[in-house]
Amino acid sequence: MKFPIEGAASYKILHVEDDPEDAKLVGRMLSRVESCSLDVTWVRSLPEALSAAEDVQYDVVLIDFFLGAKTAIDLIGDLPNSFKRCAIVVLTGSDDSIVDELSFNIGVDFYLSKERLEYPVLERAVRYAIRNKEQQNRIRDFSRILAHDFTNPVCQISQCVSLLLLKLSKTVDKESLELLGYLENASNRMSSILTGLKDYSLSQDGSLQLEQASLNSIVDGVTSSISSFVESKNAAIERGELGNAHVDRRVFSQVVQNLIQNGIKYNQSPVPKIWIDCSRSNEAVVLSFRDNGIGIKKDSLTKVFQPMTRLDTVETYEGTGLGLFICKEIVERHGGRIWVESEGIESGGATFFVELPVG
Ligand code: ADP
Repeated sequence: MKFPIEGAASYKILHVEDDPEDAKLVGRMLSRVESCSLDVTWVRSLPEALSAAEDVQYDVVLIDFFLGAKTAIDLIGDLPNSFKRCAIVVLTGSDDSIVDELSFNIGVDFYLSKERLEYPVLERAVRYAIRNKEQQNRIRDFSRILAHDFTNPVCQISQCVSLLLLKLSKTVDKESLELLGYLENASNRMSSILTGLKDYSLSQDGSLQLEQASLNSIVDGVTSSISSFVESKNAAIERGELGNAHVDRRVFSQVVQNLIQNGIKYNQSPVPKIWIDCSRSNEAVVLSFRDNGIGIKKDSLTKVFQPMTRLDTVETYEGTGLGLFICKEIVERHGGRIWVESEGIESGGATFFVELPVG
């Protein structure tokens, strides 16, 4: 299959390259695409790229891995919302597996070595990247619209059922009351799923605003925002000195919040406890969230990160099975990984680890 993809007549490509010879070479290759028009704009630096994107919605950003003192990894972290819907193709002079892995982890759509750059390779990369991005955009739009359009009716159902229960509790028979109770539970559950879907689309939205953020202040911010939940469960949170990490403060707070809330929720101790700590090496920062909760069976340790997965806890604990999936998505967008260790159910809790690359 060749261009055009799904009938589009033209695509806008922004080429960010500081070497004029390389820029000419790529420009010549792209001009060979005949089946549709590729409108290529060449700029030499990120500031120029940002100002170009103020007025135009590009379909693809073709970006050189090394741009002056910065790499595409820094740049992509800096790319603002104007680029969030376009495919990103990284071109690099060094065919390096670490660069490849980093690019993949931060969501680059295609990665190409300049040494082996030929017309069919570039054409195919751009075409695949556009197609994949279009699919991702469609799924994202769909979950956002779903979450948005369903919120009001579900909210109305919940309110009506609560009012009905209040009005009828003394007059209707036991069986009808029981049915209304089921209806109330089901509508509350729908609301939680919609909140999960909204959190998911927020976690996917826009580029990350990465900074060297204080993990102490992120954890303290989250702890204070959920203080009434923590108090209602008679829970205690302890943290060590966590230092800094290269994260998007707002987006990463969601991970911290989900892990703390789960440690308290899946817990039968009279005083649910979470201990948050951090260890670091030259390459990575590893945050740990240990709890004294119900623990997780060994064969479920990887399952819990899959979407809509709930273990044998469905009956006892409320939830949607989206929280840890969202954590995994966010941590991977930061180029990191998340896993959990536990000796099994009723074995002294679980410890979740979040490993992030040193920025
Ligand atoms: P939710 O809490 O909404 O069900 P999550 O994705 O956050 O969804 O968690 C998935 C499942 O993993 C939960 O339903 C629960 O069975 C299990 N789980 C998560 N965190 C813990 C924990 N700290 N201790 C024990 N089990 C947990």
